Amino acid sequence: MIIKRDIDFIKCYFEDQSGLLGGNADEAILPENQEEAVEILKDHSSKSKPITISGGGTGVTGARIPFSGSILGTDSLNKIINIDKENMFATLEPGVRLSELQQELYRDKLTYLPDPTEPNAFLGGTVSTNASGAKGFKYGPTRNYIKRLKVALSTGDVLDIERGKIFIKKGVIFSLPLKNKEIKIKMPSYSMPAIKNSAGYYIKDNMDLVDLFIGQEGTLGLILEVDVMLGKKPESIMSFFSFFSSEQDALSFIQEAVRKTYFLLNTWIQTP
Ligand SMILES: Cc1cc2nc3c(=O)[nH]c(=O)nc-3n(C[C@H](O)[C@H](O)[C@H](O)COP(=O)(O)OP(=O)(O)OC[C@H]3O[C@@H](n4cnc5c(N)ncnc54)[C@H](O)[C@@H]3O)c2cc1C
Repeated sequence: MIIKRDIDFIKCYFEDQSGLLGGNADEAILPENQEEAVEILKDHSSKSKPITISGGGTGVTGARIPFSGSILGTDSLNKIINIDKENMFATLEPGVRLSELQQELYRDKLTYLPDPTEPNAFLGGTVSTNASGAKGFKYGPTRNYIKRLKVALSTGDVLDIERGKIFIKKGVIFSLPLKNKEIKIKMPSYSMPAIKNSAGYYIKDNMDLVDLFIGQEGTLGLILEVDVMLGKKPESIMSFFSFFSSEQDALSFIQEAVRKTYFLLNTWIQTP
């Protein structure tokens, strides 16, 4: 692992795209494999030393900016572990940059459909923020494409969870599926608004455990590995600007477009 204490090296981790000022930390630690990342968490947990996880630093809320302790940079956890073309999914480490992932997939005429807009974001950052992007209206956010997560808790205990296997109710006390240890958590019981929102942890009745770790901004654990579902790359994409004489005209256009062209668009996008 690389440990840097030189301020000239670590100051780049004191900022993201939010413009938030005043970040500081003693050191930046860059694990070179998942085992090292787990050891770093165990060590900090035993000393009760704060640690802030850093992805690509493209966030707009200041969430990766530390205010004490250490930075854990995921820059070197950047392996594309496997691309399973037949079953259309990829296994990736969190430091894989979105632009690199897309380049790799395009070679096989595949794509990562949620495609959050900022190509310099890391996959781990986009999972931790449940990012969506310019294509979000059609494809929805990152959450819809996560099949499996491997997450290290702040204690260094590792969870490996597949979507569709473990469901939890709101408000219950729940034992995390760990091999040699019992860690219980109390699920919150608030209701989320029925609109697109990113505030707070994702909570629904009978929710999949995977969903708790999507959008948690590094507060519940370090994402070590992700299985994402893939789609076929469209042959071409058309972009256009439209001008409307009223808000109602614009809304009607969108409703009509969704109703009339969804099927055509879908067929077109899925045609190899
Ligand atoms: C020009 C521009 C356009 C953008 N467009 C969009 C958009 O369309 N949609 C959108 O949703 N966002 C957008 N963003 C915001 C940003 O790109 C996303 O929030 C992105 O997901 C952040 O990823 P990152 O790797 O840069 O994470 P960072 O900024 O480094 O970190 C974000 C949060 O994730 C946590 N984190 C990072 N990696 C891990 C990990 N491995 N495990 C656990 N926690 C981790 C950090 O601790 C922090 O809380 C845009 C930003 C810019 C600058």
